[in-house]
Amino acid sequence: MSSLPVVRVALPTPLRRLFDYRAGPAGAGAIEPGVRVRVPFGRRRLIGIAVEVAAGSELPEERLKPVLERLDPLPVFDPAALALLAWAADYYHHPIGEVLAAALPKALRLGAPTHPTEERWLLTPEGREAYARGEPRRAPRQRQLLGALAGTDSIHQGAGLSAADLDEKLQAWREAARALKARGWLAAVETAAAPAAAPDAAAVGPSLEPNEEQRLAIARIGDSLGSFGAFVLHGVTGSGKTEVYLQVVERALRLGRSALVLVPEIGLTPQLVSRFRQRFAVPMAVLHSALTDHERLLAWRDAFSGRARIVLGTRSAVFAPAQDLGVIVVDEEHDTSFKQHEGGFRYSARDLAVVRAHRAGVPVVLGSATPSLETLQNVAAARYTRLALTRRAADAAPPRISLLDLRSSAVHAGMSTPAVQAIERHLHAGGQVLVFLNRRGYAPTLLCTACGWIAPCRDCDARLTVHLSIARLRCHHCGADSALPQRCPQCGFAVKSVGQGTERIEETLATLFPGIPCIRLDRDVVRRRGDMEEAMRRMSSGEARILVGTQMVTKGHDFPNVTLVVVLNADQGFFSTDFRAPERLAQTIVQVAGRAGRGERAGEVLIQTEFPDHPLLLSLLADGYDGFARAALTERSQASWPPFSRLAAVRDSAGTAEAALAFLTEGRKAAEELRGHGASGSWARSVRLLGPAPAAMAKRAGRHHAQLLVESADRAALHRFLDAWLPALESLPSARRVRWALDVDPIELF
Ligand code: ADP
Ligand code: ZN
Ligand code: ZN
Repeated sequence: MSSLPVVRVALPTPLRRLFDYRAGPAGAGAIEPGVRVRVPFGRRRLIGIAVEVAAGSELPEERLKPVLERLDPLPVFDPAALALLAWAADYYHHPIGEVLAAALPKALRLGAPTHPTEERWLLTPEGREAYARGEPRRAPRQRQLLGALAGTDSIHQGAGLSAADLDEKLQAWREAARALKARGWLAAVETAAAPAAAPDAAAVGPSLEPNEEQRLAIARIGDSLGSFGAFVLHGVTGSGKTEVYLQVVERALRLGRSALVLVPEIGLTPQLVSRFRQRFAVPMAVLHSALTDHERLLAWRDAFSGRARIVLGTRSAVFAPAQDLGVIVVDEEHDTSFKQHEGGFRYSARDLAVVRAHRAGVPVVLGSATPSLETLQNVAAARYTRLALTRRAADAAPPRISLLDLRSSAVHAGMSTPAVQAIERHLHAGGQVLVFLNRRGYAPTLLCTACGWIAPCRDCDARLTVHLSIARLRCHHCGADSALPQRCPQCGFAVKSVGQGTERIEETLATLFPGIPCIRLDRDVVRRRGDMEEAMRRMSSGEARILVGTQMVTKGHDFPNVTLVVVLNADQGFFSTDFRAPERLAQTIVQVAGRAGRGERAGEVLIQTEFPDHPLLLSLLADGYDGFARAALTERSQASWPPFSRLAAVRDSAGTAEAALAFLTEGRKAAEELRGHGASGSWARSVRLLGPAPAAMAKRAGRHHAQLLVESADRAALHRFLDAWLPALESLPSARRVRWALDVDPIELF
């Protein structure tokens, strides 16, 4: 026991605890919660976050090591941020050190300063004397550099010049600087850079005159600024949700507050970013996955310093240090990319956005044309307020949706005759056509018709996809890549591509409609930043007439002249083991259908299916997404799936299927033992264990996957159970033979 003041530090380790350190010679008062500190850890030095300052420690004095360094003048996490992240660590049952690390850009985890610094070069007294003597005589570049610095010397009293200034004045000065520094004539220092000036007023571009529904939504959310409220902006595609976001953000800015806007994937929604840029002149920090570590640091600093008044970003931006936060917007709240479902800390950015807004006392807006069933259930339970935009803003009529029964019409290369005729009709009338197929590549199967061989992935329970244009076979699950064989490796007979991918549909469309320019949009063609914008431009300008693509085409683009949308395979969603598959299918259909007829002309949507009688599909057609949601929620409630229960999944993988199952089987036994202990019976009884079972695709990238689900109608009981169970899981000997992770509120079940 020590009664020295200590700092309790969160370190990026999988251990579920804080570590005590002596506050150092300057005393505990010198370190406040939320600053980064450098501390000794075993034989290493780590950067961690001071979480608490305490008056004493359980550890004896001689075992307390000192904090080596405080890195920040100001905390990187203010008390509200620390509290939110502690809540998240608790809720997702993840070690606090890793949670805090995940909330910082990599450069800061490695020790970069929170405030911009500047590299400045100065003359040393020796350097000044040397320059006065006329040295160095045979190195004109060095002489010039000394001269430039000597010049500033007399004016700025030794202020020197920044590297940026030198870049402007002199060419190739760095080499000269290095040589002079080696002689002791120059010195380089890092100093705080002058903060970039921020425009002081919230300069705003002209807004649209809102229609009645938009006006009501803006007023309801706007009146709630300054206190918590969760609003679901349920607006059909094209109903003008973005305009509502813009006007709500404008009101927050006028109150001197900032706004945090979360979007699924920026590369896929360039239009939203540019509409924010066009509307507001205030500095905006944009955070997304394509940034370099340095760019991410700069964006974080812009938010942290308060310069950026709008922070717009993908999932992890929910942790961005937006100052004076006034409102949070989550666009396309149903999008699964808001859930981090890989790596260690698996969180839902949408759910954390609501928690953050609640703790900060600000409104949060969850926008979607197809809200998740969880969110709709929160509306039904009066926890969230629904604001509906039922009409398309620009007076466009809603599209007509109909089913094409694949069993009763001739199908050629994946397209039924009525679909081909409809495409012809719309092209003839001057419209553009969008063809949606959720499968990239040329064909999903390579088959030998003589012996029945099918090209398999060696490392996955999956077939290889044919990519004809590059003559490769690829696995879409592990990335395996090999040459496309001409003959069957088993019998030598010629092989054949079976089934349709976007590449093949593009080829088919080119044969059916020669001379009609067609573009394809999927992950094979959209590789670099700008590829997406280029495709958008060609569609908007009318240069291209047909767009064929995957999920990518369903995201918020506006093509006013698209009058027909064809969905080629609506059926995948019905065969999945995941109880959320029908919800995803309905969302995709509604989103892609929303791309039709956004301009003056009414749109038409054709859905090819082999199950035209499927009840959920019929409710979607008859009563729209609302009708579908009612039917699907009833099913969920009967089966007691979320949102009518809470789920957690323990997933693992191992070199063999047996090892993957063995750990989870022991885990289940450990859970049953806990249940056996009478005292804890109350929570244990309301928790159901399902599994373990191999994942639907058990083998992926050479590893065997399995999962065990934990379900309870009582959220608190589930979390108490996890608190007791996780230490037991961690201490199982078999835990060391697998890779495993806990996923609270999993949204994808394998
Ligand atoms: P959503 O995000 O709901 O899909 P958008 O915000 O993209 O819809 O709006 C669809 C189209 O309607 C855009 O071209 C937008 O400029 C236009 N729009 C939105 N609100 C109005 C309005 N009040 N008056 C006229 N046009 C509007
Ligand atoms: Zn063969
Ligand atoms: Zn594979």
